[in-house]
Amino acid sequence: MQEIGQIKDIEMASSAFIAKTTSANHEEFFARRCIWVNGPVIVGAGPSGLAVAAGLKERGVPFIVLERANCIASLWQTRTYDRLKLHLPKQFCQLPNFPMPDDFPEYPSKDQFIGYLESYANHFGIQPQFNESVQSAKYGETCGLWRIKTTCGAPDSSNKREVEYICRWIVVATGENAEKVVPKFFGFHEFGGDIIHACDYKSGDKYRGQRVLVVGCGNSGMEVSLDLCNYDAMPFLVCRSSVSIVTAISHFCLNFTYTMLVFSRGAKELTNGGNLGWDQVWQSHFWCGSHIPIRACCLENIINKRVK
Ligand SMILES: Cc1cc2nc3c(=O)[nH]c(=O)nc-3n(C[C@H](O)[C@H](O)[C@H](O)COP(=O)(O)OP(=O)(O)OC[C@H]3O[C@@H](n4cnc5c(N)ncnc54)[C@H](O)[C@@H]3O)c2cc1C
Repeated sequence: MQEIGQIKDIEMASSAFIAKTTSANHEEFFARRCIWVNGPVIVGAGPSGLAVAAGLKERGVPFIVLERANCIASLWQTRTYDRLKLHLPKQFCQLPNFPMPDDFPEYPSKDQFIGYLESYANHFGIQPQFNESVQSAKYGETCGLWRIKTTCGAPDSSNKREVEYICRWIVVATGENAEKVVPKFFGFHEFGGDIIHACDYKSGDKYRGQRVLVVGCGNSGMEVSLDLCNYDAMPFLVCRSSVSIVTAISHFCLNFTYTMLVFSRGAKELTNGGNLGWDQVWQSHFWCGSHIPIRACCLENIINKRVK
């Protein structure tokens, strides 16, 4: 592997630079395109990546955004169910320096949210490099530079190529739901019916009249169960531990109160010169996290036993 410290010569090519090397194993180095980025590399063009990009743009800092999908906010565009609306009021989901339109409802639909994110990217002139997936990022201690290797090309393309970026900063904005997690259940492979993850679920249309086991009763489990009811399916909802069900607005109030408590405790400890008390922070968030915000119509379906 070529060491970053061995880069000898850097040539400018528009906003990027081409790095050259004189190392012994330069063949591997030249096998892929190598680009010096004069600013941070942002990985992921979801809401977080876009917000960082907008902040940098406003301050005149050059950057590039690498996105493995072929669109911005790929989680929202390709891996969410049709009936999805924001779970939190719009003022808590909008990105910095560009509020959601006044005529949006309090809980915008997923299409409205996607439209908003597209306007956000246009407004700030953010142009992610799509179909470019980061494979590795390594930091060279000696010269303080990152080497980021990517593969370019659509997933089904036979014409993939590799690119290497060299930069001083990397912003990882790849999200917490980027990879689906399907737990292994006993009897998983013997089960004859369909098994799908929530990120592949679009609507209950194809489950009409069928009995469906929904595993997990977080936001997605609740919403999918409600959707199944709306399509005349018979959902059974299972969760492994007890949950407290609160309305969306009470959930916000609870989280807000606990966040304030956590911060005031943290501030007190800091001013006393003590530790921040991360165990309390974690416990409080864990406690808050076990409350599921639920829409009233979903609760109704549980009460009248349409969701079992
Ligand atoms: C069903 C559902 C409902 C939700 N509702 C809400 C809500 O109401 N309000 C709210 O605030 N949040 C909600 N969330 C949370 C959601 O995670 C955030 O809204 C938001 O999408 C997080 O943004 P992000 O940019 O951090 O991550 P993501 O939106 O996940 O974006 C990460 C991006 O990084 C890209 N990426 C990943 N790995 C690589 C790689 N190796 N190379 C290049 N690109 C890569 C992905 O393709 C993706 O586009 C919801 C999530 C789900 C699943």
